Amino acid sequence: MRVGVLAVQGAFAEHVRMVKKLGATAVELRRPDDLSDKPDGLILPGGESTVQGKLLRDLGMFATLQQWIRDGLPVLATCAGMILLARTLSNDRQRYFCTLPVQVRRNAYGRQLGSFIATAPFQGIGNVRMTFIRAPYIEKADPAVKILATVNERIVAVRYRNQIALSFHPEVGEDTRIHALFLQSLSTGKEQGTVFSFSEKKRSKET
Ligand code: GLN
Repeated sequence: MRVGVLAVQGAFAEHVRMVKKLGATAVELRRPDDLSDKPDGLILPGGESTVQGKLLRDLGMFATLQQWIRDGLPVLATCAGMILLARTLSNDRQRYFCTLPVQVRRNAYGRQLGSFIATAPFQGIGNVRMTFIRAPYIEKADPAVKILATVNERIVAVRYRNQIALSFHPEVGEDTRIHALFLQSLSTGKEQGTVFSFSEKKRSKET
């Protein structure tokens, strides 16, 4: 299993560490050449979305990544990565991949209270300790978007088709469960020709 981790800016090293810890291969995507071999999954890390978006365009990587996501490549996006996927941003004129039908608010918790930790249930996993760093949250989501976690009634984790987006940083600390869920969905998707059938199965068991 090869997972491409966008590595132009931000917290990519921690995601690489998680992927390796789970026994998969992590490929850092830094320049167009790194996109010549399409990976089995993609991680968009936290960082600064404006910088990441600009670098992706300046380096000439934007269109390929957008096409991969549109074509159904499984994506795990965290924090700034969620901003890159969002169809609209309520407090920013910029738009990036626009593949996730949600409205996201950047730096949504304010600058002073921008970083905090919360523990909340995550669909299919159980309670997760979540680290928020100047985090965005989802203000509005298309009905087709599945909500995976909320904190104080704010949506902080969603799944839509091939995309999982999180407001928080699952790569911080030693809890590998969210990365494991993502990797598991890649292998199940490969076998069955569908992505994220793992979570679908889980869900039907719960209901
Ligand atoms: N505030 C950042 C942004 O708007 C996101 C923060 C993060 O990724 N930790 O891009």
